[in-house]
Amino acid sequence: MPTETLSEQPHRNLVGLGREALAAEMAEFGAAPFRARQLWHWIYHRGATDFAAMTSLSKPFREELAAHYELSRPAMSRSLTSIDGTRKWLLRFPDGEEVETVHIPEEDRGTLCISSQVGCTLTCSFCHTGTQRLVRNLTPEEIVGQVMVARDALGEWPSPQDDRQLTNIVLMGMGEPLYNYENVAAAMKIVMDPEGLSISRRKITLSTSGVAPMIRRCGAELAVNLAVSLHAVRDDIRNRLVPLNRKYPIAELLEACRSYPGASNARRITFEYVMLKGVNDSPGDARELVRLLAGIPAKVNLIPFNPWPGAPHECSPDAAIEAFSDIVFAAGYSAPVRTPRGRDILAACGQLKSASVKLRRSERPPVPAA
Ligand code: SAH
Ligand code: SF4
Repeated sequence: MPTETLSEQPHRNLVGLGREALAAEMAEFGAAPFRARQLWHWIYHRGATDFAAMTSLSKPFREELAAHYELSRPAMSRSLTSIDGTRKWLLRFPDGEEVETVHIPEEDRGTLCISSQVGCTLTCSFCHTGTQRLVRNLTPEEIVGQVMVARDALGEWPSPQDDRQLTNIVLMGMGEPLYNYENVAAAMKIVMDPEGLSISRRKITLSTSGVAPMIRRCGAELAVNLAVSLHAVRDDIRNRLVPLNRKYPIAELLEACRSYPGASNARRITFEYVMLKGVNDSPGDARELVRLLAGIPAKVNLIPFNPWPGAPHECSPDAAIEAFSDIVFAAGYSAPVRTPRGRDILAACGQLKSASVKLRRSERPPVPAA
């Protein structure tokens, strides 16, 4: 093939390839298997963005790689920092679609909240993302890319052993991760690999609105922590708040939780419960919640509703949230109230929504020339 034709071909991005895929790619490229292992180390442990920096590889091999491949991450189109230190990054992919990724620093840890889809097909009444039509699933490259961008921004390469600012990952950003399971699983396997990004499955939590048939598979294959967005204790109310409940009602969802592989008293399933004034926040609701959770190693996370423009709900008063928490706590479950983080930059739970997809392509402002 003439070299002109070769150089016109788009460079394949190696970021997002798992161990096997990278080994297969290198085998096809004619490189020895140990080269794939060296590359893995440079990409995911050292965070290299340039083949030239890979000093353990010979110069000709580096040049060959650079002629065919790239090591790219999603572009950061906006970065906002909240008064509480929470950072929100708007990331843009080559097709112009965007998602949000949020970093929440705390005293003893730093949590990265990542997205699994552009928008969401589900339409939970209290969620800003749910008002955005789904554009598409994210690829493994785009999911891993969010973690890589965060590591870049935090200056955390090579992957530090201690004192990390990025210790935990929650799949609680935009999208329903169990509706994009294959890609999420491929990405998490890369993230968990001890010779790379090295974030253990014990530090990763996947949140689902209740895709009951996928829950067992997720536990068996990924064994990450599970969080379930319950939000209501009666099917008629949950049908309104989380319309997916019509497909997988509360009893079926809780049955799937009961058999979640790996759940134990040491590794409890988190039940998320957004506090909505006059909708799901009565003492009776709290008592029913306790009854429903019997036999499940559970903890409850009460989330004060985070408002967004045009939302059809209000947050429950503090006294109602405290009373609810007390009832659940008295029954033996931990029931902390989640402190909202990053509300001022619309980075809190359920506030994420990338503005670009509200507009049709033809309505978007032109991208300024570089
Ligand atoms: N789709 C998944 C994960 C993303 S949402 C899921 O629904 O679980 C992450 C969490 O934020 C969920 O528990 C969701 O119910 C909650 N949430 C959504 N909108 C919210 C809002 N406006 N205020 C507080 N929590 C919200
Ligand atoms: Fe989708 Fe989760 Fe928002 Fe529901 S709460 S619309 S499942 S992102």
